[in-house]
Amino acid sequence: MNPKNNWNARTIAVHGGARRSQYGEMAEAMYLTQGFAYPTAESAEARFVKTAEDEFIYARYGNPTVAVFEDRIAALEGTEDAFAAASGMAAVSGALTALLKGGDRVVASRALFGSCLYVLEEVLGRYGVHVDFVDGTDLSQWEAALASPAQVVFLESVSNPTLEVIDLPKVCKLAHEAGAIVVVDNAFATPVFSQAVQHGADIIVYSATKHIDGQGRCLGGVICGPRELIRGKIEAYMKHTGGAISPFNAWVMMNGLTTLELRVKAQAESAQKIAEALEGHAAISKVLFPGLASHPQHDLARATMAGPGTVLTFDLKGGKEAAFKFMNALKVVLISNNLGDARTIATHPATTTHQRLPADQKVTLGITPGLIRLSVGLEASDDLLADLLAALDAI
Ligand SMILES: *Cc1c(COP(=O)(O)O)cnc(C)c1O
Repeated sequence: MNPKNNWNARTIAVHGGARRSQYGEMAEAMYLTQGFAYPTAESAEARFVKTAEDEFIYARYGNPTVAVFEDRIAALEGTEDAFAAASGMAAVSGALTALLKGGDRVVASRALFGSCLYVLEEVLGRYGVHVDFVDGTDLSQWEAALASPAQVVFLESVSNPTLEVIDLPKVCKLAHEAGAIVVVDNAFATPVFSQAVQHGADIIVYSATKHIDGQGRCLGGVICGPRELIRGKIEAYMKHTGGAISPFNAWVMMNGLTTLELRVKAQAESAQKIAEALEGHAAISKVLFPGLASHPQHDLARATMAGPGTVLTFDLKGGKEAAFKFMNALKVVLISNNLGDARTIATHPATTTHQRLPADQKVTLGITPGLIRLSVGLEASDDLLADLLAALDAI
């Protein structure tokens, strides 16, 4: 049922992975079932010996609704297969734990989402995996770290919240020379702007909670990659340790994929407009957005991604006090910590998502007291801009 490779993304997003029951329903059916009945004892035995495509055993292993979501996202991303997970972190931790064992070495970029950092520093270390961190934007650090063998390279292609863009083609090449599998957390690049597979990434992980749902309803995640790894080590680990996505959430996510490109492109267009309008504002010391010429990796972002993303950050000159005054004055934009939602969201990373980070690491990563992360939604960009400018005036 996999779509032909010559379909365009918009067509895959609508029809990819579709399965129809004997009723020929138009909208994908939601199979809210844990298990599956077998016509005979012999067929149950046969299925446990070898499960064919579109045969299921138990929803922790797989489910027809989940399979549509997995096939659709794999086809969009351009990977052979995908395994859906309960959340973005179930996908990140599942992929890493499935691929690694005690004594292995990971090289990772330092600018990471807090929970990713926890898995690398606290969890993997406990089981004897050695993790070396590098400044992801400094190729010489990748070169030095990957001069010795490693089993996995882990990075966020665009980092949360510092929007560092990693040179995927070069890092993937170095990683492969060191014998490593490249695992990319691609949440900020989104499946719409991702070219990770073309640049050599082996495993691409998404928090589907973000743009794929896109309306802030459900948690979900997905691990995309070659069939040998997805249906090998990764499926084995995921199905036995319980990271499966709920069929209901998979149904929401598969429908999210249908409109993903339209939403993300509209959000990115507004983000570009807002970033350009805020750059140079008297209350702001710096605006960061991969789509601005002033972004340190602007050219790299243009060369390696099909678009700039939907998240920008800006640093308020007045520090935390200004940041809080600004946020409290917003009327359209909501204060929250999610991103990729249809609703525009302002976050103060230093006191929320990245609160636990030690002060020196916040400085290293550029998570300053005045830093605001703005996830641009689907409202009219003029209304958003008016709201942001009025809140800046309120400082
Ligand atoms: C949100 C996020 C995650 C975690 O996703 P959940 O669905 O919340 O578990 C992982 N990585 C990045 C970069 C994220 O932004």
